[in-house]
Order: sequence, then structure tokens, then C-alpha cells
Amino acid sequence: MMLFLELAQTFKEMETTSSRIALTQFLVELLKKTPVDIIDKIIYLIQGKLGPDHSSKELGIAEKMVIRSLSIVTGNSSNEIQLLYNRIGDLGDVAYRLRYNRVQSTLFQEHLTVEKVFDTMVKIANTSGTGSLDLKRRYITSMLNNSSNLEAKYLLKLVLGTLRLGIANYTLIDALALSFTGDKKNKSILENAFNLSSDLGNIARILAKGSIKDVQLIAVSLFVPVRPMLAERARDSREALNKMKGECFAEFKIDGERVQIHKKGNQIELFTRSLENITPHFPEIVKMFADENTDNFIVEGEVVAINSTNLKYLPFQSLMKRKRKHEIQDVMEKYPVLLNLFDLLYYNGQDTMELSFFERRRLLEDAFGNIKNDRLKLVDQTKVSTIDEIEKFMTKALENGCEGLMLKDPSSRYRAGAREWAWIKLKREYSGTITDSLDLVILGALYGKGRRVGKYGALLLGSYSKTEDTFYTICKVGTGFKDDVLTALSNRLNKLVIHKKHPRVEAGALSMDVWFEPNIILEIVTSEITLSPVYTTGRNLIKPGYGFALRFPKFTGNVRDDKAPEDTTTVDEVLNIYSNQLKQ
Ligand code: ATP
Repeated sequence: MMLFLELAQTFKEMETTSSRIALTQFLVELLKKTPVDIIDKIIYLIQGKLGPDHSSKELGIAEKMVIRSLSIVTGNSSNEIQLLYNRIGDLGDVAYRLRYNRVQSTLFQEHLTVEKVFDTMVKIANTSGTGSLDLKRRYITSMLNNSSNLEAKYLLKLVLGTLRLGIANYTLIDALALSFTGDKKNKSILENAFNLSSDLGNIARILAKGSIKDVQLIAVSLFVPVRPMLAERARDSREALNKMKGECFAEFKIDGERVQIHKKGNQIELFTRSLENITPHFPEIVKMFADENTDNFIVEGEVVAINSTNLKYLPFQSLMKRKRKHEIQDVMEKYPVLLNLFDLLYYNGQDTMELSFFERRRLLEDAFGNIKNDRLKLVDQTKVSTIDEIEKFMTKALENGCEGLMLKDPSSRYRAGAREWAWIKLKREYSGTITDSLDLVILGALYGKGRRVGKYGALLLGSYSKTEDTFYTICKVGTGFKDDVLTALSNRLNKLVIHKKHPRVEAGALSMDVWFEPNIILEIVTSEITLSPVYTTGRNLIKPGYGFALRFPKFTGNVRDDKAPEDTTTVDEVLNIYSNQLKQ
């Protein structure tokens, strides 16, 4: 048993710290005193969730409902609470300021425990149908009745999803390694298990109950998404071929959405690149696999929308329409999709990730090569060993509406979650400009002037360093925003405002009008990467006191909602692009 008050106190300390080292230290202390049987619950709650991303449920709690509950337990009118909320902006913070005028006598009051809070939240998430709103409100009222101000504050932040500690998986992995093995060195084992199972709660439980050896036994399993293998980027075919030691497979690089498909018997599930379950978005893919005899596998592919008459690939944005659940039938007809399979991770009860890419592709051909369905194919592939062959295949890919090529080392195994030179992405080149876009996370903003008064003017963007688990600034961007996009973005950003710079952001002396929790990623193009004393990405790497900056950055209009903050373009990638630019 653990008192919820203990957790609330730690949350308070974490919320006020501005250093990542201190944040990790608070986590270590918390994990050390957490009873083993609730360690997974603590891990999920720290991240404001009820389980791993692929199965965590939404609570579906409206602010109005919480205001009503607060009114019942404090005796303040809903109107008064609403006014306070308008002023303060967070209902947890409102709850902290109110005086509790308990309806129950202290005799019936019980101390809130972490177990109780977690289990009640699960109940709330599982409540649906008629009368569910009423029931949810009663659950919240009853927990508030047993809360102190501090507990009420964090309880509401948890149920409303506004707890913004911004603790990344990597920080938690560091803390777990320190707490249970005493050594940060073991974190690679934890990271590996996380790449395969995507469930830190489960890993923490196995580690706390057993040892690091038990964590090593965690294997890939069906319906638990594997973190995808990623690609490095090459400047041109020459560099790519050199990295591949003169020979590799080239594949069409299709500009769609990456999906990981799991099937066993009648169960078929689809996951995105960031491990979200998107099975309901593609009923026709589910049916396609349901109709096939091939069973017991995990495959990966790129799904792309096609024009229903000429079957040509449509831009990535066409797939966004799949998010609207109630229109799915209509969207399926207007924007049919084609699935291009490119990898096999698990087959017939066997982990195939250890096999070479050459062998995986052969198995993929055996399993799916003969399927007679014009909406499913294996991605176009050819073996290349000269620059000329790469260029020819590139032209063919571009003619077919692809973005470029993916080059793959035939002897490489599938490395979940890793970005290595075993896969190389090669996009169309234009001379003189940086061809590839960067995916940068929004860290802060300046208020707008002129036409943009009352909105955000320039947004501060950042890159990411996985080793430091820190975001570094790289530019301010104010161009490329259409009015409607800017309004929608501002609404989302308003919910991410934090009162000071986030502890995981390194911004040097830069001051901004507002800071945000790093969350939203924008696709940005630029004419050049330059050196600047203002920004912190790669500071001191090339020249003392200088970091990298983007010259004429422009938003492409693409918000990368398929990426998590930790998928932001890394400092190493920026360095790589900068070096390539010098070579040109
Ligand atoms: P990244 O996934 O590398 O972080 P990103 O999401 O911006 O970056 P790209 O830079 O376009 O994507 O390149 C990688 C992505 O290309 C893959 O994640 C996958 O979705 C897509 N892709 C298209 N064709 C293939 C293919 N043949 N093999 C592997 N991936 C492919």
C-alpha cells in the first residue's frame, strides 16, 4: 500500500524542478520506496497513463463534470469555480486553492491510496453507456471527498490528463536502472526490452520482482507493438553505396503511413510508427488479412492512399481523413489504400528479427508473394551495386510517385527502435538546397504583432538528443502558417503552456514570451544550416560558443502527429546534414 499523498508530494517536487538530473533523482527515490506490487501503476501514473501506449484507455472526463464534483465537495457554486478556472487555466490548480467543506464526517473519510486512485481511474475508463456520466462524476466526487488540497490538485491533473511532468521513457529507464541495479550501465538491457515490448510498467515489475536477467528474457509477442527500426540519411547515392560496402537492396520509399500488422487466428491489429493502435482506421486491411490463410505473424509495411480511378499514389495528407471514425465507410471508397509490405518481424511462433534482411525478405515472399489481392503487394525491390543502378531505380521510384529510395543491408538483422546505417533513406536531390525536411518540436513562442496580435508570432523549435534526453533550440519559425492552421495550432499549444522553461529543454540565455511542454512536431524546410551564438543545438561542436541554426526556416504545413517528441530530428542528424552541406 502507498498513500496517494506521497505520490502527490513527489509530483509537486518534480513540477518545480528545472534540472533533469534532479528529476531523475526524484524518480529514483520514488521508485525505491514504491511497494513492488504497484511499481507498474506508479510508472504509468508518472506518465499520466493507465497502461502502455498501445492499450492505455482514455478516461473521457469533461471539465464540466469535474467542476460539478468540485462544487459538491467545496460548497462553491459551479459558476464561481468556472470563473476561477478561466483565470487560472487548470482545474487541478483551482482545486488546490479551494476550501473543502466536506459532506461526509471525518469518521467516514479514508486515506486515498495509489492503488485506490489507479483502480478507480481504470473503472472510470471502463464505464460506458447510459448513466455512465453520472457514475464517473460520483467516482470523482468520492475521491475528492477523501483528498487534501495537494491530493485533489494531482488527482484532477491525472483524471483530466493535464499532469505535465514531461518525463520521457529514457529518463524513466535511467531511473529504473539506477534504482534496481545500482548502475546506469544496465540501461541498454532495459532499453532493448522496451524496444521489443513497449511497456515500461511491465519491465519495471519484472525488474523489481526479479532481476535484470529476467528482463533480458522479455521477447517479442503478438499484439504488443515493436518499436520500428529507423534509417539514417545519406547525402547522395555515392555516400549511400559506400556505407553499404558496395552492395545492397534498394526499395521504393513510399510516402504513406508506416503500419505494423499483427495477426493470430481471428485477431488482427494495426499499429502506427508511434505504436498507437489504429485498427479501426483501416477496416479493409483487417478484412484483407482475415481472408488470407497466412497466420501467426507480425509484418510491417507502408500504407498509401491511391486515386480510385488511375490508382496513382496520393499525398500522405489523404490518409489523415482516416482519423474521422464516423466517416470511415465514405473515406474507404473515396481514398482506397494500397499496402506495400517491406518486413517480417515474427512468423509462425518464431522471432524473425534475428534473421538477416535477405532471409526476412525471402520469408516475406513465401508468405505473401502469391496473394491475389490488388491492394496488397511486397514493396518494389532490386539489388544494386553501382551508383548508376541506384540512380536508375531512383528515377523509376520517382516516376511511380515515391519520395525516393530506402537502401538496406542484406546481412543486417532487425534492430527494434534503432536508427543505424543498416537502412539508409535517399530522397530526391536538388542542388544547393537541403532536400530533406527536419521534424522539429515546438518549445516556446513569442507573441505576434500586427496581423498576428493575440496569436503566437514566432515559434521556437528544437532538436533532440537521445543520450542527454534533452531538447536543444535550433530556430524560430514564423513562415509557412496558413491562418486556419495557425489558429488550430494555437489552440493546441494553449493547452501545453508551462510557467517556465521545461527541465528537459536547454535554451541558453534565450528568453521567450511563453514556454510549452515539448509535444508538437512540425515539419520544417530550410535553405541552409548555419552557425549561431543564439541556439544550443550542437553548441561547441564546430566552434566554441556557437550552435547550429536554420536559415530561412519554413513550415511545410505538415504537423507530424505520427511522431512522439523523442522522434524529433536529433542533434546528430543535424550535424550530419551540416557536414554533408559542407561537402557539397
Ligand atoms: P524516420 O521514420 O526516419 O524518423 P520520417 O518518419 O520522417 O523519419 P522518413 O524520413 O520519410 O520518415 O523515412 C523513414 C520512413 O519511410 C519509414 O518509417 C517508413 O514509414 C517509410 N518507408 C517508406 N517506404 C519504406 C520502405 N521500403 N522500407 C522502410 N520504410 C519505408
